[in-house]
Amino acid sequence: MSTATPSADNGNGVMTLENLAKFPEGQKVYSCMQCGTCAATCPYGDDLAFPPRAIITMLEAGLIEEVFNNPGLLNCVTCYACMAKCPRGIKLTEVLLPLVKEQVFTHLKEVPAELQKALENTMRYGNPMGESPRKRALWAKSSPVPVPVIAEIKRAVDVLWFVECYPAYHPRGHDGNRATAKLFKALGIDFAILGNEEKCAGECVRMAGETGLFEMLTDANIKLMRKYKFNRIVTGGAHAYDALKHKYPAAGGDFEVHHTTPFFAQHLAQLKPKLKKKLDYTVTYHDACALGRHNGFYEEPRALLQAIPGVKLVEMNHSGVNSICCGGGGGMWLDTYYAEKGCERLSERRVKEALDTGANVLAVSCPYEISRFEDALKVAGGEKRMVVRDVVELLAEALED
Ligand code: SF4
Ligand code: SF4
Repeated sequence: MSTATPSADNGNGVMTLENLAKFPEGQKVYSCMQCGTCAATCPYGDDLAFPPRAIITMLEAGLIEEVFNNPGLLNCVTCYACMAKCPRGIKLTEVLLPLVKEQVFTHLKEVPAELQKALENTMRYGNPMGESPRKRALWAKSSPVPVPVIAEIKRAVDVLWFVECYPAYHPRGHDGNRATAKLFKALGIDFAILGNEEKCAGECVRMAGETGLFEMLTDANIKLMRKYKFNRIVTGGAHAYDALKHKYPAAGGDFEVHHTTPFFAQHLAQLKPKLKKKLDYTVTYHDACALGRHNGFYEEPRALLQAIPGVKLVEMNHSGVNSICCGGGGGMWLDTYYAEKGCERLSERRVKEALDTGANVLAVSCPYEISRFEDALKVAGGEKRMVVRDVVELLAEALED
């Protein structure tokens, strides 16, 4: 499992591009041997203008301003592939790229419209969709099991469920929420949500380079969570998990955090006897970058899927550490920008591989992937051959009623 690299003050100040060498992980950047693996691994390698190895060259040559003034790094979708493959073990996606992206973002002459709107919405409403914060917990009324709001029940709970924006507002996210609630109940877990008080975890904002807004969201959520008593946080958001696990501790939010997929895998012995309904599905699993390459959760989703009676699991050509990014994460809200540049949508590249397996279900563990892949399936003409389901949806379907 990867650990977050501290970028906060460790006695040498806050890590910046100027003082990289004062930090062990920063020093490593200068060990680059220019092998080119990072550029070759990158799904948008041809569109970056400055792939990681070129950024390092420019940094060493004192020409980094040139990188800041080129919007090419908007094509970095923060997929962690370069970092996973770098033979020098340089924390490219954790250390170097965020520092450069922050500067690229501030130097942009024009922020792509879709991204600009999402950032404005997040600043104003606490979610990128621009939905009313007062409707954030409305979905819970459609849940088959009661979903308590922690401020209303006024007591400590075992699990604080961090729902995150897309699952709170999007109808397909609601499907995953209802499934998660059913699974908590089946396992006898005492849980509650933050309700309308919750704000976007901010990870996609951070990955876009808007660190100031990310810090605002982090502070607001930490202050909120500190008001309540709970043992651990569980979230279905892959990027929310990444932020809560790796970034919130440096801002004072040091909570025990789990993602739903590994969380339910931890409870598999208790859950398996309850999975009685046979599902005759051939399933292929897409490893989300944040959960797989960044956190090492490769076995857990597969163990859950294989525990469902009737499910046959097949693998895509690229799976595990070699999985292809869906294009979300750092590329959220940039689909129009990429299309204008003539770049292939990564979600379409991915569903073509999924369809090639002959599976009729594409299973995911990141709520953003559901609509991205459903849309890509339509474009690829595969929507009649394959459906996209969150792992929690499949588990809940297999539960005895
Ligand atoms: S993969 Fe690592 S060592 Fe190789 S060029 Fe890229 S940053 Fe340098
Ligand atoms: S994180 Fe992914 S998209 Fe970004 S530079 Fe590395 S390989 Fe390319």
